[in-house]
Amino acid sequence: MSGGADRQRLAILGSTGSIGRSALEVVRHHADRLVVTALAAYGHDLELLEAQAREFRPRLVAVVDGAAADELRARLGGVTEVVAGEGALERAATHAEVDRVVAAIVGAAGLRPVHAALAAGKDLALANKESFVVAGALLRAVARRSGAAIVPIDSEHAALHQALRCGESREVRRLVLTASGGPFLDRDPSSWGEIEPAEAVDHPKWEMGPKISVDSATLMNKGLELIEACRLFDLPGERIEIVIHPQSIVHSMVEYCDGSWIAQLAVNDMVLPIQYALAYPERWSNRFPRLEPAELGTLEFRPVPAHLRRAVELARGALAAGGSACAVLNAANEAAVNAFLDGRIGFPRILDVVGEVVAAHRPEEIDSLEQALEWDSWAHGCAEQALSAP
Ligand code: MG
Repeated sequence: MSGGADRQRLAILGSTGSIGRSALEVVRHHADRLVVTALAAYGHDLELLEAQAREFRPRLVAVVDGAAADELRARLGGVTEVVAGEGALERAATHAEVDRVVAAIVGAAGLRPVHAALAAGKDLALANKESFVVAGALLRAVARRSGAAIVPIDSEHAALHQALRCGESREVRRLVLTASGGPFLDRDPSSWGEIEPAEAVDHPKWEMGPKISVDSATLMNKGLELIEACRLFDLPGERIEIVIHPQSIVHSMVEYCDGSWIAQLAVNDMVLPIQYALAYPERWSNRFPRLEPAELGTLEFRPVPAHLRRAVELARGALAAGGSACAVLNAANEAAVNAFLDGRIGFPRILDVVGEVVAAHRPEEIDSLEQALEWDSWAHGCAEQALSAP
């Protein structure tokens, strides 16, 4: 693509979050190729959303919170159209002038707009892994019908997407997702009861929002990524392994049937996988930070230690159970992480709650968006009971 006329038109859902801000940084670097047509956010950070609207002049700004939308509309004074309420995210995701949707809403709340975008045939740059954990098979079927492309933004999945371009799917032996191990990799589990939310949110290698930071600390992020990889690349969970790689330089790797490994390396900055997803199938030069191989020093790989395996085991259990089990796992985890961030439970209790909810669940097939959302709210209710138990 070149010139202003055929710039790719983006909707960025979750524009004030960590991924959304990085996506806009990529747009700034590639103003000749990318243009922002719609921005969407909850409305927690109106100052930033207003600044983004003034800088990028989108056709539409969608704000979930009605009062925040009114305030933004008054502040912007006609600079751009502001829409509010429940359906606002879907309006941004399906805007007639949008070509590609960056889905960076956190949690299962991203499911409806992701579904709407794919149904409308919009290409998807996917950061919202939870939507594929909850209803991946359904979303892929919707994309197949509409012809929408799905390119992952999650750094591990962007790495796998690249490594998988080196061969045919029948030639793939296994995928290996790398995990930094999070902030508590080397901390004695007997002291986990004392972990404060602020420590769990402070990730050593990646700058991320609070929910995904806690997920990285419990390693549930890797459990969710395992499910996401199964859904995106159509492989059973047994063909996907997890290895600890504290440096976060190798973002994931593929072993082919002939014993060759293809790994993807880059600095750990989300602008790179975001640019990959927006440029695909092209590659664009940039001035972002890059790797200097001679200065890398030692790259370590080791098995996940026993005390950090529980989240991935829960995820593997949900995959094996099938149907609604992954949706329930995801919702229970969301509820438990929020309870930890609110100071209602200690860190070790997060995965206890997930385990209790999953154990109380009898999986059923998910055939529709409504069913997926029903299981999501069932699991939130069930988690709430577990959280309130003495
Ligand atoms: Mg990741």
